[in-house]
Amino acid sequence: MKAAVVNEFHQKLEIKDIPVPELDYGEVLVKIHSCGVCHTDLHAAHGDWPVKPKLPLVPGHEGVGTVEKVADGVKSIKIGDRVGIPWLYSACGECEFCLSGRETLCQQQLNAGYSVDGAYAEYCKAPAHYVTKIPDSLDFDTVAPLFCAGVTTYKALKVSEAKPGDWVAIFGIGGLGHVAVQYAKAMALNVVAVDIRDDKLELAKEMGADMTINSMNEDPGKVLMEKLNGVEAAISVAVSPKAFEQAYSTVKRGGNLVIVGLPVGDLPIPIFDTVLNAVNVKGSIVGTRKDLQECLELAANRKIRPIIETKELEDINDVFDSMEKGDINGRIVLKIQD
Ligand code: NAD
Ligand code: ZN
Ligand code: ZN
Repeated sequence: MKAAVVNEFHQKLEIKDIPVPELDYGEVLVKIHSCGVCHTDLHAAHGDWPVKPKLPLVPGHEGVGTVEKVADGVKSIKIGDRVGIPWLYSACGECEFCLSGRETLCQQQLNAGYSVDGAYAEYCKAPAHYVTKIPDSLDFDTVAPLFCAGVTTYKALKVSEAKPGDWVAIFGIGGLGHVAVQYAKAMALNVVAVDIRDDKLELAKEMGADMTINSMNEDPGKVLMEKLNGVEAAISVAVSPKAFEQAYSTVKRGGNLVIVGLPVGDLPIPIFDTVLNAVNVKGSIVGTRKDLQECLELAANRKIRPIIETKELEDINDVFDSMEKGDINGRIVLKIQD
């Protein structure tokens, strides 16, 4: 089968022929129709993070398609089902985190397109218990980004504890951020969108943002403290550490800063202000299978639709170049097989 493969960090991906994965007990083989391109895939290809991915690696954790084969032991999924394979490829099911509905914290977890091969390929296999079925009303290309950008931002909004009518600031209106704006509006929140590019802020307005700030021109902390006395929650899905510092400065007393983006760097937090203002700083990592089901249902019922542009698998190196420059508005989805 055709796949895009990272052989070495910082080198171009190679489009090559590799064997179709062999199924083990309890697994399904998915014929990949399309796969979204997440900034995490670029971090993986660069080996940016302290925990490195396997090499060679087939990236991709927003892969969706049709089940073509099922192994022994599979009961919940049948041939022909439309499913997606998210970042949480599998977890142990037995540890304190799995047992308490926090499977994304499982220390035995595997991650699609990182510790195991993902969906930048014509086929991808996965444990049946960890693939999620796609509602009929959502087409493959549009639903693909919900398997990471969707579930991650939906979960981050839950973690933010923002309630209907509260103000929430979203920093970074990229693949994740433009979907975050839509989920936030579906949850009846007031949204401030912050980015360093006007084209992203235009997209945020189209997605329903109530206010936009270009942080190259204005200081979001100053503006939001003056106008709103701060926001109940700020969520940073940006790819520059500077955005996280700015996001911190916008949070109202007693509010929440939710850290989601994963640029390389540190976030210096003032101890005095954090204590006196009782600001909560929280990390949020993708979402559980239940979060993903809710996120897909909400998308189906509330018309949440990622803004996508489709490309071929062969275009992946150009797509990564554009992503690095910040030139992608919305999400790129690779069309892999019909
Ligand atoms: P993206 O490239 O599509 O979007 C990044 C956005 O950040 C762009 O719109 C860019 O203009 C904006 N940006 C850059 N510098 C900024 C600044 N100083 N202030 C405000 N905005 C700025 O990336 P993406 O696919 O949306 O991913 C974003 C980040 O989230 C990546 O680091 C990715 O690895 C991470 N991520 C985390 C999780 C999680 O579970 N925590 C899940 C998925 C992705
Ligand atoms: Zn992702
Ligand atoms: Zn576990």
